[in-house]
Parts: sequence; structure tokens; C-alpha cells
Amino acid sequence: MLDALAAELTELESKHLLRRRRTVESAQGVRVRVAGRELRNFCGNDYLGLANDAGLKAAASAAIAEYGVGSGSSHLVCGHQAPHELLEQRFAGMVGLPAALGFATGYMANLGVITALVGRGDAVFADRLNHASLNDACLLSRADFVRFNHNDLDGLARQLAASTARRKLIAVDAVYSMDGDLAPLQALLALAERFDAWLYLDDAHGFGVLGEGKGSLAHWQLDSPRLIYLATLGKAAGTAGALVAAERTVIDWLLNKARTAIYTTAAPAAVAAATLASLDAIERDGWRRDCLFARIAQLREGLASSRYRLPAWSTPIQPIELETSQQALALAEALWQRGIWVAAIRPPTVPTPRLRITLSAAHSEADVAALVAALHELE
Ligand SMILES: *Cc1c(COP(=O)(O)O)cnc(C)c1O
Repeated sequence: MLDALAAELTELESKHLLRRRRTVESAQGVRVRVAGRELRNFCGNDYLGLANDAGLKAAASAAIAEYGVGSGSSHLVCGHQAPHELLEQRFAGMVGLPAALGFATGYMANLGVITALVGRGDAVFADRLNHASLNDACLLSRADFVRFNHNDLDGLARQLAASTARRKLIAVDAVYSMDGDLAPLQALLALAERFDAWLYLDDAHGFGVLGEGKGSLAHWQLDSPRLIYLATLGKAAGTAGALVAAERTVIDWLLNKARTAIYTTAAPAAVAAATLASLDAIERDGWRRDCLFARIAQLREGLASSRYRLPAWSTPIQPIELETSQQALALAEALWQRGIWVAAIRPPTVPTPRLRITLSAAHSEADVAALVAALHELE
């Protein structure tokens, strides 16, 4: 058995698909230390520079002093502490839906919500570029798993029309995690209405960034009892965990049926307290988004005349597509030698290899200028 695994690992390596980790010896941020060396970081999802923010750290420390470290139990037994409750209420109000429920991670939220809402005899309609956690959730649900081509509304409409499923759910990333483009949410909601389906939005990369921080619902001005909205907190919010918002009846149902919320220990109250401080910063600090969008524009202008193919959109995710995994790895390695960290993302995570460049409000003009200069040098 070990020989078989070792042989497959060797084969992955020969195809430039072996995955490795690097150990970060500093806090998360736009400068990180790896093996004693400081690097400019362009692969994190800390879009607003909140992961190591003094205000969030103070809120977490104060909550540790008051509530301790461990929550001691699941939410339904005795682990649901005051900061958890406050966070759910605050979040629901912020995104404009009646109620919310917290999960320990976004991955768990997707597994729990989808499997609670659909099962055998139902159908879930999913964009082909959805996040892996949504795909896993759809498979686990045992509902008919119907995938449509990326942002193909006509294809989706045909699949919905052909479906005889008892209950239908459309599930998409609101901002695609590896590409950075947006799902056409108004058109998707219109289809959900036409075919009497739920619309589930995974806004891991939109919350904190779009809609003046309130996320994709505000960006697209969506309001409907069919909406089920997920924000994950490990990206722009700078903490950890996830919140799902929807009609009160949906949230009550999830509280009773979402297994990943029921059969797991509540996240530490300190994480919820830090997230509350993060929501303050997201609402208060418009300058963070101004900085972020200025850096995105700087990168795009800096590379406009290069041979790199940049995406058409101006979100913090700016992937550069490459022909082969080997090219992606070689370019990432050459940047690494120049003190710049960008992740090479390869199949099976994405269909086409790429450098996934991400920008943060904490990047300086000099950081982005260094990346642009290095990319020009390596053209
Ligand atoms: C990161 C991510 C998740 C998972 O969230 P975690 O809190 O990291 O588990 C889910 N969906 C999308 C689109 C993501 O990018």
C-alpha cells in the first residue's frame, strides 16, 4: 500500500502537480517571513489587511480574558456564548436578511447548508467553476448534481426547465475564487424566481470588498426570500469561520438540520469577538477598499502593455493564465527568488494553470511596483 502511494506521489511530482507547504514564521500580511527571509506576499486573501489588525487583536484578547479559550461544547448544548449570538444578529442586519447562523469554517457551512436543504429527489444546479467545498456539498447531499458551464445562463435555464425535481437549489460562488469574476446574480435570481428555486450564494470573496463591504447582495441590490447567503470570515474579514444569512425559517431549519453546525464544538468566542471588531472596521474604514482598488488599478495599468493576459475585471483576484503547470511553477519560482510570493494554482484546483495574484489594502504602491517590475523582467 505504501509503495502504491509513493508511486502516485512520484507521478504527481513528474507532472508538476505535487503540492507542498511553506512555513510562515510571522503574522499574516503583505510582508511575511519564510525561512528567515522577508517576502512581499501576493497570495493571501486578507484583502483589507485585517488579519493582524491591532483592533481585532485587542478584541480577541479581551474576549479571551472574559470567555477563556475553548467554547467547551457545541452551540446546541452549552457552547453558544454571548459574542456568537451578537455576531449572528449583527451580521444579519449588515447584509439585510432576517437571521443568521454561524459555522466554524466556510467549508463546513457549505456542507451543512446544502445537505440540509436538498436530498434524494431534489436537484442542485451548480456552476462548473464553483469552489471545491460547494462541489463536495452537492455530492454529499445525494441530490441530482447538475453542473452548468461557467456563467451560462441559457444552459442553466434549459436544465431548470427540464428538471422534474421536487426541490431545486441553484448554488454559485458570487465571486469566483480562482478567477475573480462575478456571477450575474440578478439574472440568476430571476431564473430562481421563474423556476421556483432557492439561490445559494457563496460570497467568500465578495464580503468585505463589494457593496461597500456589505458584500454581493448590496453590490447587486438583491432582496428576496429565496436567497441564502454565505460569507466566510477567513478572507477579507481577517478572522475565521462563516456566517449564513436567510429567512428566519431557513435559519431555524439549519439550526435543526445542518449537521456541521450541530455535531461540532463552537468556535472560540474570541474569534466571534474579533469578527465583531472586523465588521466595525469593514463598515467604518472605506479607505481600506479605496486603497485596495487603487492597488488593483495600479497592477492592471502596470501590466497592460505586457504579454501577460490579465482578466477583464477589477476584483482583488487577478490571475495570470499560463499554458502549462510547469510554466506556472517556473514563474512563481522566479518571483520567489526576487522576494515575491505568488501562488501557482494548477489542476485539479483549476482547469488551466495560473499565477493567482491577490491584492490587499495593506499593499503599498512600492509593493505593487516591485511585482510589476519583476513580471516585466520575466516576460
Ligand atoms: C475559502 C472558500 C471557502 C471555504 O471557506 P473556509 O472558511 O476557508 O473553510 C468556501 N467557498 C469559497 C468560494 C472559498 O473561497
